[in-house]
This record gives sequence, C-alpha cells and structure tokens, in this order.
Amino acid sequence: MQITDLQIQQVNSQIKALVMAGSFYGKKLKEAGISGISSPEDFESLPFSEKNDLREAYPLGLMTAPEEKIVRIHSSSGTTGLPVIIPYTAKDVEDWAVMFRRCYETAGITNMDRIHITPGYGLWTAGIGFQNGAEMLGAMTIPMGPGNTDKQLQMMMDMKSTVLCSTSSYALLLAEEIAKRGIKDKIHLKKGVIGSERWGEKMRQRISDELGIELYDIYGLTEIYGPGIGISCKYDVGMHYWDDYIYIEIIDPETLKPVPDGELGEIVITTLVKEGAPLIRYRTHDLSRIIPGSCPCKNTFPRLDIIMGRTDDMIKIKGVNVFPSQIEEVLREFPEVSSEYQIRISHLDGRDTLRIYVETNGTVDFMDLSRRIAGLVKSRIGFTPLVKVVELGVLPRSEKKSKRVIDERYN
Ligand code: ZN
Repeated sequence: MQITDLQIQQVNSQIKALVMAGSFYGKKLKEAGISGISSPEDFESLPFSEKNDLREAYPLGLMTAPEEKIVRIHSSSGTTGLPVIIPYTAKDVEDWAVMFRRCYETAGITNMDRIHITPGYGLWTAGIGFQNGAEMLGAMTIPMGPGNTDKQLQMMMDMKSTVLCSTSSYALLLAEEIAKRGIKDKIHLKKGVIGSERWGEKMRQRISDELGIELYDIYGLTEIYGPGIGISCKYDVGMHYWDDYIYIEIIDPETLKPVPDGELGEIVITTLVKEGAPLIRYRTHDLSRIIPGSCPCKNTFPRLDIIMGRTDDMIKIKGVNVFPSQIEEVLREFPEVSSEYQIRISHLDGRDTLRIYVETNGTVDFMDLSRRIAGLVKSRIGFTPLVKVVELGVLPRSEKKSKRVIDERYN
C-alpha cells in the first residue's frame, strides 16, 4: 500500500511535533537534517524506530505533547531491561476507542451484545482497550480480567455473555472447562475476539467447536495504542486495519526495503494522528503480509494477514527469505507425518540446500510422501527442498522449537 498524499501530510505533522518535543526521534531527524517529507520516496528514507530506542527513553522521554494534555500512561514490559512507557492524551484515548469500536462492528458485534473481557487491566493496554471500545459501542461490558475460572464461568452463565475477549490459550482453557463441567447449554457465547498471536488451525478449530462460536483475530501493540488497530471480518481472510490512524509497511527485515503487497515480511507501523507518543516507522518484528485485492465483506480498509511469527526466526536460503512457520504449515497438511521435524540448511558445491526430515509410520510409501511434500514446499516458497522421510521415533525430541532448525552453513 503506497502512502497517500493525506498520509504524507499527517506524517509531516507528526514529524513537526517530534522535532519540537526534542524526543529521541526528533533528535534523529534533526541530525539527519529532515524537517518534512513530500513524496513516498522521502517517506522511505525516514529512519526506523526500534523497541530499544523506546526503552532508552524511559521513563517519559517519549512524551511529545505538553504535560497538561497527558491523561494516562501505559507500559509494555520487555522480558529484559526497562519497560516502555507510552503517554496518551485524551484524544489518543478517544481515537483508540473509536478504532476498537470499529473492530467490534467489523465482527458484527452490537450494543445488544454482552462483552466478557478476560485480558488484564492495569498498566497493560489489553483489558482497558477492550473496555473503552465496548462502552463506545454501547454494549454491556463484564470487566472480568484474567484468572479465577469458577467466577468467570459463573458470570458467563448468569450475565449471559455473548462475546468472549481473550487470548487463544485462555479461550481454550475456558472451552475445556465448559466441556468438562457439562455446562455448554448454559453458555450463551456467539463470538470470540482473540488477541492475534500465532495459533494453529487445530487450536482454533477446537475453541470454535467446543464453544460453538465464531472467532475474530484482533491485532495491536502497546507502542501503537494497544489492541484494536485491526481485526478479521466474518470471511476470515486477513485483518482489516485502520489506515486513517496508522500507516503500515511490510519490509524485508534484512534489506529493510519495503516488499510488494502480498509478500511476507516485517510489519512496520507509523502513527498518523497520535499526540502523546507518535512513532514513525516502528519496527514490530511481527511477520505478516498485506493481502492485495478487495475483501468479500466490501469493507474497503486494507488487510493484513494474521501474524505468522517473528522476524528473528527468518532464514535466508538461495536469496529467499524463509520462515520455519511456512514449512511447518506445509507439513501440517500431511496427516501422515508426526509433529516432529527437522530443517537443515547447508552449503554444498557453492549452493544452499534445504533438507527437511519428517517422520511417518511404515505403512506409507516414503518416496511418494517425500515427493509430495517437496512439491508443496516448492509451490509455497519457490524452491525444491530435499525431503527425507524417516521412521517414527527417529528424530530427536525437543521442547524448543529453535532446535528444529539447524543452519550448517556457518559452522
Ligand atoms: Zn473483510
């Protein structure tokens, strides 16, 4: 999606505010001698921002609006080091709620729904985002927060909750408890709004079957408002995102150049109207692609595919970026192979080779299976791997996914 003239004007306002506030990004721009942009090429020459920049601004270095306009902060914790603090103005809070209301509307949720919110409240952007959007929609909210499964289920039955907001793992846990307790006929859920993370088709199917609900993926991150900047519609063909508030680019995480629509890469987000802490070209390290063409739901907001993983998992083979999740997805389409696999990349006679080891039982024709898997990988990724089929139990068992990919090229 090329940046539009209006979006360029909006970016210029964000740049002006950042330079005036003298924030880390404002300083970056000043050093680079940039005071504004006038074309898509100019935009692509703007420096990126990274989570580390944001951490270094701790505690309030990201504050871009005057203190009297800041009404709230949120924080994202890192697994290491300082958290990131994001200040919000009243307008930011309202804009976020408007986006979130749009998410509910896109999922066909109305002010007659009863919205059961299980993500946490507090410094996190999760619970309160779901809450504000639902209130703006005019729906009844049940602000549960996480945990206490007994109470969750009791309220869900007594309040006749129709919408469950949750992570995929918590939705699965609730689904299993409901089945175990035999209370499905007392549950009134129709829809689930599930935080977008990589979750397998099998898990999705189980939640949807056990609870008898439609599932919607919602996307967002604390650095950019929070959850609610995009959601899938009932056709489940990607998440519509709100390009009047954010501009999304997909870049090749290695060359840092934007890739054409439809190609997989890293999501980079620019806020267009944010006041408290605008961000320009923020690298999310989330992996997805822009889905070209129009959606059958007729909503004209552009679409982002569901999150396919993190850029840290990327491997480059024969000049092509490959993500283990792509190969895993192909393997999942073969019920005859076990869940164990190994990917080995080596460099022989001047070229890269990709070998995939999979396991199956003795009743399958190994040669035929190997050919079929290689064919599907070729059609998805663009080159043919060597597929080695081995007996069940031969591959090493490992808890860690990373152990399944072995790059022998640099040893
Ligand atoms: Zn749609």
